[in-house]
Amino acid sequence: MTDFLSLADVLAKHYRRLDPNHPAYGACGGCGFDPDVTPGTTTFAQHQAAMWREACTITTVEELDALPSGVEVRSVNGPWLKNDRFYPDEPWWPAGGEISEASSEVGLPARLTHHPDWPQP
Ligand SMILES: [Zn+2]
Repeated sequence: MTDFLSLADVLAKHYRRLDPNHPAYGACGGCGFDPDVTPGTTTFAQHQAAMWREACTITTVEELDALPSGVEVRSVNGPWLKNDRFYPDEPWWPAGGEISEASSEVGLPARLTHHPDWPQP
């Protein structure tokens, strides 16, 4: 994960290609998902939500290393903030913690909860 996809990127990729003969139906123009024929899923919106969750899921240390300083993730061992200003080899700070850790200490999988490129509240 060198370039993280934004929500707009994911939604643009997984758009609904409408069938002009059946305007209420249509498969995904990005991956072919069809809510009418794919078992185990129900709506196109759920497909888009799943693709967004997948884009935000980090499964390898290399993906953690590729994330920029300022990201926050929620991992299987808690929330972490990446700030490489003081210790570039140990850029991950557990929430409320005072000791930074190497990427290998962040439990995987982790879910990206904040990216510095995202609009601020
Ligand atoms: Zn799709």
